[in-house]
Amino acid sequence: MISKKIEDALNLQMNREFFNARLYYAMAGYFDSLNMPGATAWMEKQAEEENGHALRFYAHIKERGGRVVVSELSAPPVDWDSPLAAFEAAYEHECRVSREMDEHWELAEAEKDNATKVFLHWFVEEQVEEESSVDEIVQQLKRVGDAPNGLFMIDRMLAGRGS
Ligand code: MG
Repeated sequence: MISKKIEDALNLQMNREFFNARLYYAMAGYFDSLNMPGATAWMEKQAEEENGHALRFYAHIKERGGRVVVSELSAPPVDWDSPLAAFEAAYEHECRVSREMDEHWELAEAEKDNATKVFLHWFVEEQVEEESSVDEIVQQLKRVGDAPNGLFMIDRMLAGRGS
């Protein structure tokens, strides 16, 4: 059984992850409008991953005897100023998610909920990976600037994302 505080925090994060999926679908739509199929596919995969994150929270709440509460979500942005601006926004977003996971971890510690800490462990590790992979793309985009050939190459590279 989980405490009410933990149940609320896990529901909050489940809904945030559903939002994250929608944010990345919005970015996929933006890249599709720029005719960048590689970045579009990258964002679609990212969105699916975020949906998977939400479902992990969903399953954990259920398994621990909590009540799943799916809430209303705000709409993500529609446009970004450039491919670089979109990936920079993604990077800032992932840094925020990392802080959110830290906050949940601290709450789980305060509530002496070791099962939730173990559950969150995967996300803490995942965020290290998320920040690093998005930052790498940001750095590459900065390097090529507005050069169309460079953007084309990066788009081809992004198409190769495995999962
Ligand atoms: Mg996530």
